[in-house]
Amino acid sequence: MAESISTHQETALQFRFHGVLNQFVARRCRDCLFTVTCPPGATAKHMIEALGVPHTEVGLVLAGACELPLDALLEDGMQLSVFPFTGSALAGREPDPPLRFVADAHLGGLARLLRMAGYDTLYDNSYADAAIVRLAGEQQRIVLTRDRDLLKRRALAHGYHVWATQPDEQLAELGRRYPLARQLHPFALCLACNAALADVEPARLAARVPPRVRERHARFKQCPCCLRVYWEGSHWAAMRARLEKLLPPAADNAPGFAGATACAAGPAPLVPRSEVPLVPQR
Ligand SMILES: [Zn+2]
Repeated sequence: MAESISTHQETALQFRFHGVLNQFVARRCRDCLFTVTCPPGATAKHMIEALGVPHTEVGLVLAGACELPLDALLEDGMQLSVFPFTGSALAGREPDPPLRFVADAHLGGLARLLRMAGYDTLYDNSYADAAIVRLAGEQQRIVLTRDRDLLKRRALAHGYHVWATQPDEQLAELGRRYPLARQLHPFALCLACNAALADVEPARLAARVPPRVRERHARFKQCPCCLRVYWEGSHWAAMRARLEKLLPPAADNAPGFAGATACAAGPAPLVPRSEVPLVPQR
């Protein structure tokens, strides 16, 4: 069945969406070639978003065998294949590392896990959509959201629609989109406020850390904003194991679409176990 966004001097062309993009389109348009009509002057981005797919989710559009820019004008008779963004397969289409994020409301658990893994992630459940878009543009952040309309904002360059509902599953899902395992730097950021942790002498923590803890541990870090203190306690190994399970280096090698050029760089080793992993303490 044809989709239509105008009835005047319509252009007829065919679309086929691939992979996860099928989850955004109407059921009758999934995994098949279908015909659409659109007005003269419509761009690929215009029509793809009219069909339900945010531009931030698109990795490649092919018109026949040729790549078509999202701002290209559509022409009568075109046959378009639309592929999802697939992380390392399209290096250069996302901000340069280090990856930084701004998380939409209801993604607080994911934001905390990203901070645990060392990824600068802004989160405040009172952020308005306009504030999220502004922060993303000013600070080259990737927007994480479950709101596809937010990802359709014209000013938004980088974003990702999170499908999973549980934080652990969300982080694993994100690790299949971005090469998170390559840049792990666990416990470098405050889990509560995203600030970089600083080394602090145990002697300066007498009022905040019990003597027994100060005697048993040599390395302490403190958040300069909320003053939480972190140290390598009994839970750090479990927290690190949780991150390594959710973000295995192999996930960075997720296959792209047919014909895509894979990133040549292999996954970097994880941060040495002795480097930073610590457990927070208020
Ligand atoms: Zn803090």
